[in-house]
Amino acid sequence: MEAIYWVLTWACHRRCKHCYDDRFRPYVREDLTRVVGEGQSAYRNIIANLPDDISYVDASGARKRTLMVLAGGEVLIDGVREELFYPVLEEIARRWGDRGPHISVQTTGDILTSDHIEGMLSRGVRTIAIASIDDFHAGLEGDRKFALMEHVRGLMAPFGAREVGLGGARDPRLKAPTPRPADDDRGPFFLFFGAQPDLWIGELWPRGRAWANGLSEATYETNFCARWSGGKNFLNYGRAGSEVALEPGGSVYPCCLKTKAPLGSVAEERLIDILDSLKGHPAFEAINAGDPEAMGVSAGWSREAYRDASTVTDPKGRNFANVCIGCDAYFAAHLGDELAAIRARRLAAVKARDAKLSSLPSV
Ligand code: SF4
Ligand code: SF4
Repeated sequence: MEAIYWVLTWACHRRCKHCYDDRFRPYVREDLTRVVGEGQSAYRNIIANLPDDISYVDASGARKRTLMVLAGGEVLIDGVREELFYPVLEEIARRWGDRGPHISVQTTGDILTSDHIEGMLSRGVRTIAIASIDDFHAGLEGDRKFALMEHVRGLMAPFGAREVGLGGARDPRLKAPTPRPADDDRGPFFLFFGAQPDLWIGELWPRGRAWANGLSEATYETNFCARWSGGKNFLNYGRAGSEVALEPGGSVYPCCLKTKAPLGSVAEERLIDILDSLKGHPAFEAINAGDPEAMGVSAGWSREAYRDASTVTDPKGRNFANVCIGCDAYFAAHLGDELAAIRARRLAAVKARDAKLSSLPSV
């Protein structure tokens, strides 16, 4: 798997109007305990059910470490950092040791301290990604985002962390794109990005508060599925371009936007078993090809029918069309029941496999 995007918690200190999931927001007292508890009770099983060999083969044939992105919400807030985030980092180190994934942490950056940086780097984090550099994060609009960047650069300097440039809006104060660091370079690195117009999330996903607030500028031709964070290649674990997204409780999705139903739960089953069980299914192969419009063709949903199902009035009364809306409609109409049936077959097969293994004589 080239990348695993793991949302550790819904808890956040902000409630941004462009956020892609309503659940990212502040929680207090017993609500915070409950939300963090969801991640606490699942993370050991999730880590145990990820592949032993956490790597992939790139286009040149070279084997490289998986990128594991740990995100919120905000993983650095009190109530999350010590209770969930650091224990997850420690469990990753226990599970894979020196053969572990590259760990990248996404944070807003506005509450970052030297202690946090020390706490992350000492627990194996390779990259700290500041994900708030846009005009949607309240308090960071306009030039204020650049003041945050200078502050963060000052915090990083004593740690010898090197800045990586992703590009994005062509403001000279953003670092120009830099080559991807060599796989054996363990960093540390830091980078800045946000909901900038020319990044892969530029038009904003038709999800969460971005959807409710009428902020997505996507058209039908904006195929998030074929972009980074989309569903393309999710089944091709072991190869470049493969990525899945995990929720705090272990639900797994082919994309960070998230489909209408999860593919399964990595808190209950091995990730590879879940993905293998979906190979060959026309709808999931269409997503894997980055062509969601073909999802239902073999089941009688023509591309025209898919386009019709993708065309809606958004919560602000705008005419809106996007392939992710059609994907939602197809999942709601067909795939919820099918995923349940596939899961039942998968569990039966795993049970039979385990029974066979336990019947073998021990040596
Ligand atoms: S966009 Fe980021 S900082 Fe804002 S509410 Fe969502 S998760 Fe929190
Ligand atoms: S079309 Fe479906 S699978 Fe593809 S990115 Fe959109 S929601 Fe995800």
